[in-house]
Amino acid sequence: MTYPTQPKASHYIDGAYVDDTSGDVIDVIYPATGEVIAKVHAATPAIVEQAMVAAQKGQKIWAAMTGTERGRVLRRAADIMRERNHDLSVLETWDTGKPYQETSVADATSGADALEYFGGLAGSLTGEHIQLGENWVYTRREPLGLCVGIGAWNYPTQIACWKGAPALACGNAMIFKPSETTPLCALKVAEILTEAGLPNGVYNVVQGMGAVGASLVTDPRVDKVSLTGSVPTGRKVYAAAAAGIKHVTMELGGKSPLVVFDDADLEDAVGGAILANFYSSGQVCSNGTRVFVQKGIRARFVARLAERLGDAVIGDPMDPNTSFGPMVSERQLQIVLGYIDKGVAEGARLVCGGERIDKKGFWITPAIFDGVTDDMAIAREEIFGPVLSVLEFSDEDEVIARANDTEFGLAAGVFTQDLKRAHRVVAQFEAGTCFINSYNDAPVEAPFGGMKASGVGRENSKAAIEHYSQLKTVFVRMGKVEAPF
Ligand code: NDP
Repeated sequence: MTYPTQPKASHYIDGAYVDDTSGDVIDVIYPATGEVIAKVHAATPAIVEQAMVAAQKGQKIWAAMTGTERGRVLRRAADIMRERNHDLSVLETWDTGKPYQETSVADATSGADALEYFGGLAGSLTGEHIQLGENWVYTRREPLGLCVGIGAWNYPTQIACWKGAPALACGNAMIFKPSETTPLCALKVAEILTEAGLPNGVYNVVQGMGAVGASLVTDPRVDKVSLTGSVPTGRKVYAAAAAGIKHVTMELGGKSPLVVFDDADLEDAVGGAILANFYSSGQVCSNGTRVFVQKGIRARFVARLAERLGDAVIGDPMDPNTSFGPMVSERQLQIVLGYIDKGVAEGARLVCGGERIDKKGFWITPAIFDGVTDDMAIAREEIFGPVLSVLEFSDEDEVIARANDTEFGLAAGVFTQDLKRAHRVVAQFEAGTCFINSYNDAPVEAPFGGMKASGVGRENSKAAIEHYSQLKTVFVRMGKVEAPF
């Protein structure tokens, strides 16, 4: 049977769909029902070779164009993505199971933002002039060459664009490998870029499991690797890239703190905790899953949070009223259920949720644990599911020390009406992305990335340009050369 989601072929190379059916079959499963909705093949070495050759050829043509010309292509692609937002959002929902209510405002739209933003910057990327008496130096901002992007499964369209847009703006080519769990959306991004006028070979998509990712990372023709994934995968990919002295961006996992002081606006803080834990069924890297609530407000906070969770609409992800969808896979669901059992066994109080819903697909009710202590597994390890832990605290110094007591450092948030305290607290957070009276906003204009084990480098904003380009220094002598002999 052919599903509406079946792509024309598994890979997108040199401006066209290609396949090699001798590659391992990857079933694409709709998380809401568990049914197979498409099949793709993992890239064989021949497919990887084809992508490498096409990318190297395409990059030269692309880099020879002016920044303004490159930017025009990216901005055109952004316009096409916005025009097709509905179809792209439906595909994102098929791929990930995330509700259409989310995908229609957070995925293709965010991808389009990245293409538009970096398209706008492309024409103004320059080096500088440094006068040294009569001599002078100028710097050239040059592309790195061939970049590999490797994506996680939670935001397949967004990740394909967040990596592709700055890479392309700087004149690089990209080979993108989506997660094997969500292989469909990146193909559409590649198709749209071609339609917008991108030269063939500049943006390619190859499918496959970790082994394909590893073969891309170790290929000597690759100059840069950008990974979005877990810390264990990050360690492997970083090490493999280091062997070839390649540039890296690592967007890895987290176990971020959200601190709620007594004086916070209760409804805002509860809303922030919901956004920090249950969007995309909790499958968001920057989630604030350790919710530290000050003693005086804790009981009211937990009661109101549980009440508002009761308003979650759990159902058909294609229904625009649905606000909470399934987990991406049976595997991820089992991981989350395992943590629910661990939390209970360690003595935390399960306030609500955490039960598998008895229907086809990978469904679980959103869970709140109260009475969580710092040493429990649910407070230390990234769960990547809809499990919020409430930890009580008494004073500011104590909560900062506890919030920072983790190997991760992706994000952190604080809710308080005392703005001096808010700024004092965020200044001490060991986290790359912080929020005051808000959570999980990710505008393309702002740098995004982690400290400590949560990553290296930054995506989005002008900061990303530094990670997709390199400076060449040119010294120019105007006078005679004075040599010692
Ligand atoms: P994984 O780390 O399992 O996989 C990430 C990607 O790396 C996948 O495409 C995977 O392929 C690939 N991969 C696996 N092994 C290797 C290898 N040895 N060499 C090269 N590539 C490899 O992450 P998940 O897909 O499970 O995503 C969830 C994780 O991603 C969470 O930890 C989450 O926090 C993090 N994340 C971080 C974000 C950030 O911006 N900081 C944003 C979103 C998620 P395949 O899966 O196809 O086998």
